[in-house]
Formats: sequence, C-alpha cells, structure tokens
Amino acid sequence: MKKQKEFRVAYQGEAGAFSEKALLIYFKDTKNIVPIPCRTFYDVVEAVRSGNAERGIMPVENSIIGCITHTYDLLLETKLNIVGETILPISHALIAPKDIKKDDIKKIYSHPAALSQCEVYLRRFKNADILPTYDTAGSVKLIAEKKLTGVATIASKESAEIYDLSILDTAIEDYPDNQTRFFIIAAENIHTQNIACYPCKTTIVFDTLNQPGMLYECLGIFNKHKINLTLLESRPHKTEAWKYHFFMDMIGHVNNENLASAFDEIKKMTGFLYVMGSYPRYQAKLSEKKEEKNISNKKKIDKNAPLYSLDRHPEPSIVQVGNSMIGEKKNFTVMAGPCSVEGRHQLISTAKICKDEGADILRGGAFKPRSSPYSFQGLGEEGVKLLCEAKKQFGMPIVTEVIGVEELEIVAEYADILQIGARNMQNYVLLKEIGKLKIPVLLKRGMMATLQELLMSAEYILDKGNSNVILCERGIRTFETATRNTLDLSAVPYLKQHTHLPVIVDPSHGTGVLELVEPMAKAALAVGADGIMIEVHFSPSTALSDGYQSLDAKGFKHLMKEIKRLKKIF
Ligand code: PEP
Ligand code: MN
Repeated sequence: MKKQKEFRVAYQGEAGAFSEKALLIYFKDTKNIVPIPCRTFYDVVEAVRSGNAERGIMPVENSIIGCITHTYDLLLETKLNIVGETILPISHALIAPKDIKKDDIKKIYSHPAALSQCEVYLRRFKNADILPTYDTAGSVKLIAEKKLTGVATIASKESAEIYDLSILDTAIEDYPDNQTRFFIIAAENIHTQNIACYPCKTTIVFDTLNQPGMLYECLGIFNKHKINLTLLESRPHKTEAWKYHFFMDMIGHVNNENLASAFDEIKKMTGFLYVMGSYPRYQAKLSEKKEEKNISNKKKIDKNAPLYSLDRHPEPSIVQVGNSMIGEKKNFTVMAGPCSVEGRHQLISTAKICKDEGADILRGGAFKPRSSPYSFQGLGEEGVKLLCEAKKQFGMPIVTEVIGVEELEIVAEYADILQIGARNMQNYVLLKEIGKLKIPVLLKRGMMATLQELLMSAEYILDKGNSNVILCERGIRTFETATRNTLDLSAVPYLKQHTHLPVIVDPSHGTGVLELVEPMAKAALAVGADGIMIEVHFSPSTALSDGYQSLDAKGFKHLMKEIKRLKKIF
C-alpha cells in the first residue's frame, strides 16, 4: 500500500514544547502531520529551506517579554516566507524530580524566554542558580533522562507528564493572560495571490535613510493610506553600527491597493522594503468563541430535571480522586491494574508496571462477581488490604468493586473509588446505600442496560446525596460473538450530551480481546471519554481471572505511549 505523504513541520524544542503544542493546534485539520523537533531556531529555518520540512513554526512575540527578535533576523537572512500566524496561551509550571522539596532546589533550568516570563516568581529561590537552556521541554527531558537531583525546570504541565516528573507549582508566569504569537514559515510563498477572502496581515522590513524625521515620514505614509499597524520593532543592521532595520506588521494583504501604494512610496523614499509575507490573520476559533459565549450566557437551570441531567447542572461535574480531576476538560484519567487481586507478589508487580507507565489510579477486584461459583472469587478483605499496601507503596489511589451491602463497610474503609460492577448496576438497595456516602463511585453499565437505565441508576446514587458519580461504558450483550461484549462507544458522546457526570470506558471487558484493547482505548479518547480502565497483569498467562484480555508490561507501555501522543491532538 502506498504510504500517505507526511506533512512535516519543524519546531524548536522537544516533545511537549510550547511550539509543538502551537503547531498541533494550528495544523489540527491537516492529515499526516509530523512535528520535527529541532535544536535551534536556525535548524528550523534550515529544515524548511532544505525541504526537510514543509513548514516551520517560530515564536515571534510574547505578551510579557515582547519580540523574539532572533526570529525576525533569521527570516530576513534566509528570505523564507511567513504564511501564517497563531497565538497560544502560555502557562508555566515548576517541574522537578519526584520527592524533591522547593527548599532543596539548587538549580533551575529553562529556556531564557520562559525564565523571563517567570522572573518575579523566581526571585524567591535565593539559593538556586537560574540557568538558561535551549528548550523548556528539553530541560524536563534532561532532568528525567540524566536523573538529575536538586534541580527543577520551568515548562508546560504536559511536559511533566511526558517525562513523568512532579509539578511543584502551576501558573507561575508573572502576569496572567500570558500569550505567545508564532509565525508559520514556508519556502514557497503560498499566499501572494488571491486571498482577499481572509482577514489578512502583512509583515515587512524596511530601512530609513539616516536623516532627521525619516521614520516619522514613513509612518505618515501608513497613516495617509489608512493602514492599521500592529507591530513596529527596530533591529540593528549588524553590518553598520547604529543603523537599523524596521520590522512592521499591519492589517491587510500586500495586493490590497492601499498597502501596495504605501510600499511603493516608502521604497522610493528609503531604497529598501521587503515583504516577508501576507498571511491569514489569527482569529480565535469559532468553537472557543462559542465556549466564551456559553459561559457569559449562563444556561437556565431546570429544577425539575433529573439530577444527572445537564438541564439541572449545565457545567460538567469533576470528581477529584487523589491528584486526578476526573471529568475536567483535557484530563484523561487512566485506571489500570489486574482483574483480581491474587496475592502480594502479583499485585505489587502489576502495580509497579501501572505506576511506571503513568497510570493515575490502581484497579483490582478483591470481591469478585464471577459467572461461575467455582471460579476464583477474590481474596475479599485480604485483597482490599493488599490494595492499600500497593496504594501506600506507589502513591496511587485505588478503585475496587463492592458486590453487596454486606461488604460495603470494609471496602468503603479503604477504597478511593467504589466500583459498582455491571451485574450490580440495578441493585437499587446497594445504589441507595452507596448514595449515603461521599466516596466517589464508578458505576458500570449493565451488560443488558440501556443508557437511560444507566442514567437512572446514577440518579439513585445522586438522589441520596453522593454527587461523585463516574459512569463507565464496558460493553453490552449483542448477537455478536467475535467479542466478549460489544463496546458501545457511541454511549460516550450520547452521555456527554445528556449528563454532566464524567464518563470513562473499559475496553478490556468491553471487547474481551487483547488485540482490541489498545485500539478501543484510543477510540475512547477520540470520542471524548474522560478516561479508561484497563486490565493489566504482570503475567497474564498465569492470571486467575481475565488473563486473556489483560495487557502485560510491554502492551501497557505501548498503550500509554499512544495515549500520550493522542492526548496532544484531541
Ligand atoms: C471488573 O471491572 O472487574 C468487572 C468485573 O467488570 P464488569 O462489572 O464490567 O463485568
Ligand atoms: Mn475482569
């Protein structure tokens, strides 16, 4: 089969860098996009110039520190074209190896731009050296790979996740609403003709003669032609001391009559004017505007609607479990662990895999609802206590099933999330009892239950006062026998449109087929689920339950790598 052509975009930094985030958003509708990390800005322009990348992205201006002048210099030197612009809100975090306290930090690394944006925040680290590096995410990578101690870095929250480090502080930039503007650059000039349909911007560079009032004269020409200037930056000529180039951004396209006339006049007067590009002006996406509008026109609350419904509670509910904010937009919580707790060695070995690969919450059944009374029924209370040991050792909250009112007290004493299994979704006595508690609940869809029935079961819990309900799609019985269940992924967007409760997906029980777990986990992320629950076992072939659908260390590592990759896109 012929491979689809890649569309490569060069950026400066490592995976997780703000430039990478900006390009993934800018090119989100472009097929086969491949971000190409580069060490320096020069490497970015070289990648574009040599044809190794179709486009490049370069930061050009930041709302706290101003122009990134090196970008302008390089674009003038290489004569590459500016073909687009985008703006990204920037929020920095202080990131460090696990278990380090702020007082122990001796060095703080980051890109100089990030250090400048957090200059006031950094003043409190009186005993730490503040050291510039080539990249924000690159510094996170350096600390993680070299296992450095006593050091911290400033970078995006996402990069801490990618390289599995701790976040000590968030939103540490000195001023709120920190934003960076980026140029998209190309070797060819794709926008010179006919883009009158866009609201456009144009970037130029010109010199003035060394005579009194020359800059004033030039600005007068823009005024005469009613051109709205958005940026003016002077940069040294480099070859001649105390002579300057003036870079200027303005609204309009080079082919617009007023711009063309103004440029002609300036050229005649100064001798040099070069158009670096005309490109579509950045506009906040329609969906962002819609969201803003939704927030301002707060929806009316219908007090007669069911408690689960968005008419009653228009904002998404967020269930906090440990550090995981389940249901928060952009969060994707991974619960992972064995089907059953079988013993200390099995649980600890499996929990280690889950923790190492970045799972948020450890799962494991202690009380097991098995289809046959002769199958392994779980370790009961001993299993719950083992889960607690693993929780302490790995610092992971635990989710485990409660199969009846009799076991509720013991499970509720230890669990961070109480799981109600598919077979108990309509055990209304149990639902009501759990409703009286405040502990988060994971309510799994019954294998023969409609979505309306699932929502009404949630209503039982909400009605008794427990608002911490998470729904779980885990597959339903259909005539299909190729899979254990038919995973109904349309349930996710359906539920999201009808309820404020978080929704997660269990592709392990949902398919019962090892090879389908990763693809369906990825699909769950794509359709908007708030997380997944995955069965993992350190030795699936010896598992006492559901080994055939459990991922081993290698399989789980691969799944997590894929999830991390896709999280940047969805
Ligand atoms: C489980 O998650 O351990 C389980 C038994 O799943 P379900 O209730 O969905 O069958
Ligand atoms: Mn299972």
